[in-house]
Amino acid sequence: MKRLSNILLLFFLTVPVLAQPYLDPGRSVSERVDDLLSRMTLEEKIGQMTQVNFTLYNSTGRQDKVDLIPEKFIPLVRDHKIGSFLNGVAATPEVWERYSRQLQELNLKHSRLKIPLIYGMDHVHGTNYVTGGTIFPQPLNLAATFNDKWGREMGRVTAREAADLGHHWIFAPILDLAVNPYWPRVYETFGEEPLLAQRMGSAFIKALEAEPSIAPYKVAATAKHYLGYSGSDSGWDRTPAQIPQQYLHEFFVPAFRSAVEAGVDTVMINSAEINGIPTHANPRLLNQLLREELGFDGVAVTDWEDILYLVSRHKVAHDEKEATRMAIEAGVDMSMTALTTTFPSVLKGLVEEGTISEERIDTSVRRILSLKFRLGLFENPFPSTDRFERIGAPEHRKMAQTAAEESLVLLKNEDQLLPLQREIKLAVVGPNAFTKRDVSGGWTLNHQGGREEDYPARVKTVAHALKVEFPNLVKAEEAEVIVAVVGEHPYAEGSGNIQDLTLPKQQLEVLKSAFTYGKPVVIVHMSGRPRLLEGFDEKAEGLLWAGLPGFEGAPAIAGVLSGRINPSGRLPFSYPSAPGHFLPYHHKPQEKSTAAYPFGHGLSYTNFAASALEISENTASVTITNTGKVPGRHSVLWFLQDEVGRITRPVKRLRDYQSIWLDPGQSERLEYTITSRDLGYPDREGKLVLEEGWHTLSVEGQKIRIFQRDGRVIRTDKGEAL
Ligand code: BGC
Repeated sequence: MKRLSNILLLFFLTVPVLAQPYLDPGRSVSERVDDLLSRMTLEEKIGQMTQVNFTLYNSTGRQDKVDLIPEKFIPLVRDHKIGSFLNGVAATPEVWERYSRQLQELNLKHSRLKIPLIYGMDHVHGTNYVTGGTIFPQPLNLAATFNDKWGREMGRVTAREAADLGHHWIFAPILDLAVNPYWPRVYETFGEEPLLAQRMGSAFIKALEAEPSIAPYKVAATAKHYLGYSGSDSGWDRTPAQIPQQYLHEFFVPAFRSAVEAGVDTVMINSAEINGIPTHANPRLLNQLLREELGFDGVAVTDWEDILYLVSRHKVAHDEKEATRMAIEAGVDMSMTALTTTFPSVLKGLVEEGTISEERIDTSVRRILSLKFRLGLFENPFPSTDRFERIGAPEHRKMAQTAAEESLVLLKNEDQLLPLQREIKLAVVGPNAFTKRDVSGGWTLNHQGGREEDYPARVKTVAHALKVEFPNLVKAEEAEVIVAVVGEHPYAEGSGNIQDLTLPKQQLEVLKSAFTYGKPVVIVHMSGRPRLLEGFDEKAEGLLWAGLPGFEGAPAIAGVLSGRINPSGRLPFSYPSAPGHFLPYHHKPQEKSTAAYPFGHGLSYTNFAASALEISENTASVTITNTGKVPGRHSVLWFLQDEVGRITRPVKRLRDYQSIWLDPGQSERLEYTITSRDLGYPDREGKLVLEEGWHTLSVEGQKIRIFQRDGRVIRTDKGEAL
């Protein structure tokens, strides 16, 4: 019924222009774009390059309600001709559907050419702004699984739960590199190793953009934040980074290259600056590197208000006019003006005075319209109520649950205290045990996390989940083991800036008091980055890095403590031991890591052994065996070390990984095919340098030296010619 009314509505709204070639789905996208572009006025074109926030027209003016006031909204589409909107807070599917429908109806009614609008949403760990939606672990947790499946499943589930609601454009994945543990967006990343961001990010993009079951809809992904955002010197959000060109190519570019190769539709630009040049005003990074060298042909959108920030924060432009010129010349296609509507008239002025050519405008508009055509928005502009049962479906939640289970990292298990017997008398202390908010972090229900009462009844706190698993919960005095659950409370972006990596005093007090009973203490640490525990981790018998495992996270934590789940997560970052010294694991040989727990660390309740490492041409193989008593999952990490390099080489780099399940006594033979890129490194222009010489390949404690020439492994140190 709804479908039929959609079709009728679309017919009546578009009938006057139905004869136009751009409305004919039988034609190619480029034909349709050419035709539409030829009919558009300059204002209409620039309107397509503008994206504003929903708080400009909702009833409260704040990020707390998904609705729209027609008198506020209509002028945005009718007068400013704006073609894109963004953002929200948790609202039910019914509310989203009604809202998106109304938005599109008003847009089609009040715009001359009936160009559908495109709506952007920060669904960064599942459908985090949909009440009842599936909430995955944050990306840092997904990285700890070393299992690309979870990038893929999060993409698939997000598409299935978002597409019908009019959420056409998902602002994920985040491809920034967590090289500074102070950075408040560490939990949004796939950790410090580019390979994880490359593979998990691409898996997400491909799954999200090509999910067949959302037909007739399609959604777009966003590779963000291009480029070098996380490399800031201070570790604070949106602060300057000094990144040498060569380092930029070796560490920050690969995830974006992979995203472009995966066909990502859009890129969001880094709000900060690199080497003194704000990214939004950097033609070298946007026009040249992103477009010409990486071959990106989609839409580059600014981050929040970033053209204005060229004036107010970066102070590289005197006024909005100069800032707009700089950004457009650098390669911006769409401005997330967010809270202002001056951009269209400023840009129009620049075109009218001849500073910016109309061809330049056409280039961006062409990309934006191509995206709208590719997504099928002209044919299917309206949301649908037909498949609401998919939202938060048991099958989806099961994915989020298994991802959460695989994402927990057991850092310490003295005298094999864990797993704990079900009958044990257990005490649970610590602020993070008693809230739902803390398990999921920021970007959940609201930008800074929702209010505690907004979390669904079915979501468990850690205390609640422990009670299910361990019926004998008692006071600390009576306990045989104390579980102390500490960590951070939700934050997003700048509000998460910190001056000290050590957890705040109140949290340390909890730990201090937990140790006064003389009982074994297991610390469960829920944070978005590696906060320090002032030596209490050394005293504890057990230490579980839980990160931010999302709505299904608390039962997963309890399950690891009880042994129902055998932990398999491995750290996707180096865990510092002191607030003043941190290095990623891929540091240089003259540096010395003082990490408390190294990259890749993570314990299991069973043991895995590697054997029979062999090389045949460029393919290495190894046997992994579960030598313990319980079944378990294991991530196998393959590292290469370039022994001598003219540009100093990292001590090692992760080059491949696989996640496998093995029963006790079971073995599996795994392979890694060494690519020429793995055997070389980029120079400062990004060109691959291949130096003849030795590399050490290591996998799960097995090592072999290999000699490479022109990207080919030609012999090993056992004298074998290959
Ligand atoms: C963040 C982006 C986000 C955007 C829209 C910005 O402040 O940096 O990651 O996509 O807001 O909400």
